Amino acid sequence: MTKQSWLERLRARLSGRGSEAAALSCREFVDFLMQYLDRELSDAERRVFEQHMEDCPPCKVYLDSYEDTVKMGQAVCRGGDELPDDVPEDLVQAILAARPR
Ligand SMILES: [Zn+2]
Repeated sequence: MTKQSWLERLRARLSGRGSEAAALSCREFVDFLMQYLDRELSDAERRVFEQHMEDCPPCKVYLDSYEDTVKMGQAVCRGGDELPDDVPEDLVQAILAARPR
């Protein structure tokens, strides 16, 4: 299943019946994460995402740690000034290798 087809499915659910129809599974939450952080989602989609975080603390924790990793990656891209001292070199290299450009 591609991300696009999942988003289309979510949009269909959002335009369908009540909030129950739009509930997100944890798997979908994770699939959704990049687009949420990249601000690629509509307001309705963001609400579904944020609703899941309220109902599911583990996913909130996951998002927080993911966001930290993204911020750390951005710090690396800016020259590393804001990088915490205890970041393992392997992780820094992995972030640098994974960034799109
Ligand atoms: Zn969850």
